[in-house]
Amino acid sequence: MIRGIKIITQPFLPISTYHGLISGKIGTHAKLNLYIAMLQRELSLYSNDFLTILPIQEILLVSSLKYNDETWQGIPVFGEGILALEIETDDTSKPMDIMYRRRVFHHELFHMFAYGFTNGQNAFKYQLKYKTFLFNWKNLNPPIFQYSTNPIVRLNEKKLHGFVNDYCYTSIDEDMAEVFSYMMSFPGCNKWMENDKIVEEKVNLMSMFLQEYFFVDYQKCLG
Ligand SMILES: [Zn+2]
Repeated sequence: MIRGIKIITQPFLPISTYHGLISGKIGTHAKLNLYIAMLQRELSLYSNDFLTILPIQEILLVSSLKYNDETWQGIPVFGEGILALEIETDDTSKPMDIMYRRRVFHHELFHMFAYGFTNGQNAFKYQLKYKTFLFNWKNLNPPIFQYSTNPIVRLNEKKLHGFVNDYCYTSIDEDMAEVFSYMMSFPGCNKWMENDKIVEEKVNLMSMFLQEYFFVDYQKCLG
């Protein structure tokens, strides 16, 4: 258990969920230990108020994680309280890229957090605040911009101001999760915001939301 969340290191795979099948392998002892140490540190960044919204009961640690036979780094299983995370790929000789894994963790955590506002037990307290937050976020985007999963549209677009990478064009959920993941894990984030006013405003908006209602100060996370 870490912060009330069960950490499953030997999941009985494959696991069938409502939308699909989680498969993979049991992680090696060394990689599991590294990953658990990381989880301990990363979960300590969040307040109890944040955790009451987070609908996660179990974190599954899996090597070479797959969802419906496709490779994934993280799978939030909404409505079932499960977050599956990949701790290593098939090539176990590679060192673990801890910075990357940290960012994936916070990205997936944000998806669960966001899901908590519409379905969580304590969500009713924050629903209006969360709606306003989404509305204000969308308003920061360039006027003609629309989120799109169409890869052709995305490839034809030049890198747009206001987005930390082109994956953010996909949807507001991915845009927010990406910004959040950088804020919580990437020490160069502040410097890099200086070149993009919209990204800076998105970070400020996210930061205000987290601090005001959940007492999470991302600046303290970037030590
Ligand atoms: Zn995502």
